[in-house]
Amino acid sequence: MNVALLGKEVEVSTARFIFVTGGVVSSLGKGIAAASIGTLLQARGYKVKLRKLEPYINVDPGTMSPYQHGEVYVTDDGAETDLDLGHYERFTGVTTTQYDAVSTGKIYSEVIARERRGDYLGATVQVIPHITDAIKQAILSHIDDADFVVCEIGGTVGDIEGLPFLEAIRQLKNELGDRREIAVHVTLVPYIPAAGELKTKPTQHSVKELQSKGIQPDILLCRSDRLIGKDERRKLALFCNIKTDSVIEALDVSTIYEAPLTYHEEGLDRQICLHFGLESNTPPDLSIWRNVVDRIKRPEGKVTIGVVGKYVELPDAYKSIFEALIHGGIANNVKVDVEWIQSEDLDEGNKVNLIERLGHLHGILIPGGFGERGTQGMLEAIQFARQRKIPFLGICLGMQLAVIETMRNVAGILEANSTEFGNTPVPVVGMLTEWMKGETLVKHLPGGDMGGTMRLGAYECQLKPGSKSYEAYGSGTISERHRHRYEVNANYGNVLEEAGMLISGTSMDGELPEMVELQDHPWFLATQAHPELKSRPFKPHPLFAAFVKAALEQERLV
Ligand code: GLN
Repeated sequence: MNVALLGKEVEVSTARFIFVTGGVVSSLGKGIAAASIGTLLQARGYKVKLRKLEPYINVDPGTMSPYQHGEVYVTDDGAETDLDLGHYERFTGVTTTQYDAVSTGKIYSEVIARERRGDYLGATVQVIPHITDAIKQAILSHIDDADFVVCEIGGTVGDIEGLPFLEAIRQLKNELGDRREIAVHVTLVPYIPAAGELKTKPTQHSVKELQSKGIQPDILLCRSDRLIGKDERRKLALFCNIKTDSVIEALDVSTIYEAPLTYHEEGLDRQICLHFGLESNTPPDLSIWRNVVDRIKRPEGKVTIGVVGKYVELPDAYKSIFEALIHGGIANNVKVDVEWIQSEDLDEGNKVNLIERLGHLHGILIPGGFGERGTQGMLEAIQFARQRKIPFLGICLGMQLAVIETMRNVAGILEANSTEFGNTPVPVVGMLTEWMKGETLVKHLPGGDMGGTMRLGAYECQLKPGSKSYEAYGSGTISERHRHRYEVNANYGNVLEEAGMLISGTSMDGELPEMVELQDHPWFLATQAHPELKSRPFKPHPLFAAFVKAALEQERLV
């Protein structure tokens, strides 16, 4: 199969492509829809790959505020990507890579670099064909052995930024042909109380907009808060030029992990397979999803975990942490209630009653973060967890602060601090300029541009036998993803140990502390990495499973 790229016919793999666009409004759960399609095809025995095409101009979301964009999801190979890649991994278990996140910024940087090298041989470089070809190339390359590639297009149909992406898809639809691609449009069918009716008009407009760009959707995934009747379905099919069976109702679900099950009941995967001529009489094996949903819906107890962070007004900023806690609940058959606590509220100056704010919690988690704002309150929460023996999990900044707290309040070295927050005579957390990644020396140049100057991606770590970390992981060598500039200084290892804090995990060369834990505490662990990124509902992360287990024991004490 060939596709035209800059006038040349290029051979592409035999994979089939599923393009997922969104209409009417944002936040319709397009990412969950794309992820669920991946899950359903997997359950039918196919290999899938999921990717996100992002119309924004940032090269990646690494430099965006969490308030703008929610969490930054880091891949094993060190790309800073959109949080939807987290959904893709959680739903399919397929590890994403840098090639699965493509933004306008990335595409333009590539095209401009090629232009500077003279690769376009004197041509005027234009959106069509040069930008669209670069988008097509990104969609078609690094597919490995996938049978299906699900490509989600960020934003909403009608956005100016999205146009080159839609144009690239229009071209690909033609070049690949019906048997190789399908377009799924996720849309909203709102209920208008004054009329007492569900309204199809917004969807009609959105599909018209898509058609005006030359794209006819094949399947409509209609988000709605109530059943969509036969009449509305017929109307949607008629006005949107779609088969009635391909108008799929996507009702709100009580847990996102139910989405693949309800989409299957609505016939989504069947319609996709029919489109590709892949009829099969054997239903997909969705037993793991039934099991996950069953455990979430029928827990045998409940624990309350407080997450003390500074972006808590926007829970998307801690998406993977929230999901990993839910997975920890699945592992222990309990419901995890997450209480979001604004760390600035706990600052010493606010004279809050910590017992009132934190006393009822069965576990306290300090997530990652940047900058000094809010850290005072986090230190208060850490001290509270340490002194009152409440299970504690520190993640990245959470580990750095746990170390500072022990240095100050147990070892009595009050000046101990991180150089991230200013000059200190005791830099127990400091900026590192070089480190080993496997066999290679990675150099970090301070003062360079802000994008990608961190320790990013998967690094191995060795755990001390006999430690709680080792016990939780059940293994001596682990690999977790990182995203940080500062490191705990191993030179303070002895001081920490005397104060009761063990460095229980280090980098493979022994230079960088990766995990710490308190000896005289039922469960107080902190890690420099972001284990939450690798937790799956069907394979809860061992640290989160162990943390929730410890919280459950705490619940029995409280
Ligand atoms: N701000 C800290 C650092 O850069 C922690 C980063 C994080 O928590 N992801 O090292």
